[in-house]
Amino acid sequence: MSCSICYERFTSPVSLPCGHVFCRECIQRTVDTIKCCSVQHFCPTCRAAYNVVTIDSSLIPPYLRPHVLPPIRPVFFGSGSPSSPASAESSHQNTAASIGRVTAEADALRTSCITWRQRAEVHAAANAALLGFARKAKEAALRMRSERDAARSECLVLKRKLSEIM
Ligand SMILES: [Zn+2]
Ligand SMILES: [Zn+2]
Repeated sequence: MSCSICYERFTSPVSLPCGHVFCRECIQRTVDTIKCCSVQHFCPTCRAAYNVVTIDSSLIPPYLRPHVLPPIRPVFFGSGSPSSPASAESSHQNTAASIGRVTAEADALRTSCITWRQRAEVHAAANAALLGFARKAKEAALRMRSERDAARSECLVLKRKLSEIM
């Protein structure tokens, strides 16, 4: 059993809501990479989204507390005796590990980029709709103003006629 980010045997494994397991350190690193811009993160393996929000447990009714799990939670495997790898293999694994980490970070960034781009597109569309609406409103206002002016002059004419008759 090894972490798909660092390709090493798990050190303090944690599980995401989708069930994929990573080292706590590895997943924390991907979270830290985009923590500044988003609380939404994606599983490096299956891209399932999960939110990293720390919930104040005092806000949760006591009977519900046991059911509220943190998004990243520790996993315990059966009694496996981890044997330390040979040193040559270890340095190879270190390289693989840093590649894995950088890849996972890049993936996390890319995924969050896609989300942000989608959000930006939604906002742009909303803005365009709003601009269109504003333009229509202005046109309508202009039309109504000219109708009002026409009505006003017609009214003046009628008033004049009326005073002539009286
Ligand atoms: Zn790892
Ligand atoms: Zn997953």
